[in-house]
Amino acid sequence: MRIDLSDIEAAQRVIIGQADATPMFASPFMTAAAGQPFWYKCELMQPIGAFKLRGAMNAVANLPEGTRGVTCCSTGNHGRGVAYAAAKAGLRAVICMSELVPGAKVEGIKALGAEVRIVGRSQDDAQIEVLRLVAEEGLAEISPFDDRHVIAGQGTIGLEMLAVCPELEAIYVPLSGGGLAAGVAIAAKALSPAIKVYGISMESGAAMYESLQAGAPVDVKEWPSLADSLGGGIGLNNRFSFALCQGLLDDVVLVSEAEIYHAMQVLFYEDRMVAEGGSVVALAAMLTGKLPKPQGPVATILSGRNADMAQVSRIMAGQSVMLGGVELKGRPYGT
Ligand SMILES: *Cc1c(COP(=O)(O)O)cnc(C)c1O
Repeated sequence: MRIDLSDIEAAQRVIIGQADATPMFASPFMTAAAGQPFWYKCELMQPIGAFKLRGAMNAVANLPEGTRGVTCCSTGNHGRGVAYAAAKAGLRAVICMSELVPGAKVEGIKALGAEVRIVGRSQDDAQIEVLRLVAEEGLAEISPFDDRHVIAGQGTIGLEMLAVCPELEAIYVPLSGGGLAAGVAIAAKALSPAIKVYGISMESGAAMYESLQAGAPVDVKEWPSLADSLGGGIGLNNRFSFALCQGLLDDVVLVSEAEIYHAMQVLFYEDRMVAEGGSVVALAAMLTGKLPKPQGPVATILSGRNADMAQVSRIMAGQSVMLGGVELKGRPYGT
């Protein structure tokens, strides 16, 4: 049941022309800050605004013959990916999510033709509805990260990154359930064994980080975060992504909400791009000196752009934002 380079190459053939070939460029600002070329892999340029289309398309393409529809539990971007991939394949999609998910993400999924079910206050509550749909309505569940075809699909990003820049010394991957980090690490380390792969998460509710510390999957409390797409657990019965991250990640680094806020401003004011908080955690980690100083070119994955634009507007204006009931103090960029 190993997932290896051949699985990722097979996924590359599935997604070609539909979810691949996003641009990659070195940010002048981040290059100056890092002292080495600092590349962005622009997965926010995907048709659904996030990389998750890769894994979803590969998973849908590998469903057993006769599958009636698909379902998943998602903080948003995986739901979008599954909705889009299912619509392309002519399959019914039912997306289950918790009340914490921003309204913009819910509307985005409905617009892709999927049914949305809002259930409870956490991913775990939404997951109960997924299991019911599987048992009672015969839908196939596609996990956001703990599925071999999803992991292989996300891994195609690693192939593309090394094709553009074979001498990368390190890749910094936004880390939640670890499907992205696992897939990218499998591909990158197969092609370039000395490469380092780091996971980056937010400080509060970093499920993979806490699980790696504990040596086994653990439950974490979910917190409202600018990096909402990095929230959620990894599953106590995790089958693939935990062991892969344990074996393949060189380190996991955590960043604060204030650091993510600043990194979103950096991407906007220096690179003129808008991304979700979960996409800029590596910028935050580099700018605060939490990553080892690079000796060669490095890269991160700008994983998605499906941000709440009211929140983005406040951040770019230097205003405070509310996270749950808690105020995160704002600060105009450059002051
Ligand atoms: C899902 C997601 C991630 C994290 O991916 P995992 O495979 O769960 O680790 C990072 N960024 C964005 C924008 C995402 O949607």
